[in-house]
Amino acid sequence: MSTVLSSSRYASLGASSARFIGSAHRMLIDGRWVEAHSGKTFDVFDPGTGQVVARVPEGGAEDIGLAVRAARRAFETGPWPRMKPAERTRLLMKLADLIEAHGDELAEIEAVDNGKPLAVARRGIAGTAEMVRYMAGWATKLNGETVDVSVPGEWHAYTSREAVGVVGQIIPWNFPLSMAIWKLAPALTVGCTVVLKPAEQTPLNALRLGHIIEEAGFPPGVVNIVTGFGATAGAALAAHEDVDKIAFTGSTATGKRIVEASLGNLKKVSLELGGKSPVFVFPDADLERATPAAANAIFFNAGQVCSAGSRLYVHRKVFDRVVEGVIGHGDQLAVGHGLDPASQIGPLISRQQQERVERYVALGEEEGARRFGAPRVFDSDGYFVAPSVFVDTAPDMAIRREEIFGPVVCAMPFDDDDLEGIAAEANRTEFGLFAGIWTRNLSLAHKLARRIKAGSVSVNAHMVNEPALPFGGYKQSGWGRERGREVLDLYTSVKSVAVSLD
Ligand code: ADP
Repeated sequence: MSTVLSSSRYASLGASSARFIGSAHRMLIDGRWVEAHSGKTFDVFDPGTGQVVARVPEGGAEDIGLAVRAARRAFETGPWPRMKPAERTRLLMKLADLIEAHGDELAEIEAVDNGKPLAVARRGIAGTAEMVRYMAGWATKLNGETVDVSVPGEWHAYTSREAVGVVGQIIPWNFPLSMAIWKLAPALTVGCTVVLKPAEQTPLNALRLGHIIEEAGFPPGVVNIVTGFGATAGAALAAHEDVDKIAFTGSTATGKRIVEASLGNLKKVSLELGGKSPVFVFPDADLERATPAAANAIFFNAGQVCSAGSRLYVHRKVFDRVVEGVIGHGDQLAVGHGLDPASQIGPLISRQQQERVERYVALGEEEGARRFGAPRVFDSDGYFVAPSVFVDTAPDMAIRREEIFGPVVCAMPFDDDDLEGIAAEANRTEFGLFAGIWTRNLSLAHKLARRIKAGSVSVNAHMVNEPALPFGGYKQSGWGRERGREVLDLYTSVKSVAVSLD
């Protein structure tokens, strides 16, 4: 492994990220860094080269059991849930500062582990620090209310909000550090303890974050991090009888498995799942902004974004202009290794994902849709895929219905401003995560926003990365809302107390 990291590809890595990636990795259980109970490890690939850059412990059911036991002890008898809210705020603020201080290192790890271009990773790290700060502020504001009751007699009745307990968090590989923070920050804010399982494709930044959490001074057992596969470690966490709540982000198919696994103890479940999100461009929109934004909506992060704008609806009057612009934008994007400063989009996460996206592209062509996007030759064994834009698709085609999770967009014209028709067409999907609307007519924008069945809508923007705005899905895009005040509901239970004063 160290020979791989000493190759010229990694020459630009800072000393601390190179040292961390090449180190002997352990999992964090009960404040100790440990190997898997089985002693097994698995390989971590750089998706930009296809080479193994690290090995991490292959945690299984036994390790999950130990981690849950540690989290239970930390919750029932440890200082964390009993700490004054202002002290929790202070620790979380310290964590945010440390994430920022380690920003370059975390971004470099992300570029190697996930493939993201360094500049994109850096912006993401800054966003995660802001998310921690936003959530930290809520620790002191989790009040219940007093309630005027109508039953006879004199009463003092009130509600309180209590931490739900031990939380299992299972996260995906597309934004490894942000996804960890989206989950950890609200859970920690309210006083929960956590077992976090990162995706097997991208375990490195979760482990690095574990060290930073230690450095910030969180008590042992509050955050436990178990690396392992979904079918073993993930499934064990979802099924564990002593886990009070499971929070999951990933595919809809896996989300359904999580729900099934949760039935044993009816743990609370929140899910942030897939999407097939529409972007609408009306003819009066500022096309200079809308066109590159529609391209970025699907090509950003190589399309590996649950809220990617994978269905592009463009008014017929401007269809050719916008779609040609999107194709041109895709063709000009520099696709390359995350550490290459010229790269604008990186590889897909794995060979499997690359093959899956290529299958969808081939299927689209077989089914009769027309594909645009310049063919490319990539000079490495990384899992690269060139951007594709499909036109002349039909509603029942797989590329139009299914989440591809790659840089592949279907562009459809619409003819008039029949809002009901446009909304009905866009809503003809099992998903409902996000919609983007481009128009200068704000009345039209608000009317369409009302008619779209999706958890988030952006007007004249694509996805606002704002911690205060709730995010989550309608329909099969999920249960619950992350970010914003709403996420606190996922990690707290409401208790009502009625005291007879008679
Ligand atoms: P993908 O198929 O693209 O890898 P998944 O939704 O399967 O996406 O993965 C997201 C996360 O869910 C990962 O951390 C993965 O290990 C985990 N996971 C996969 N299968 C299961 C499962 N059966 N039970 C619990 N977690 C799982």
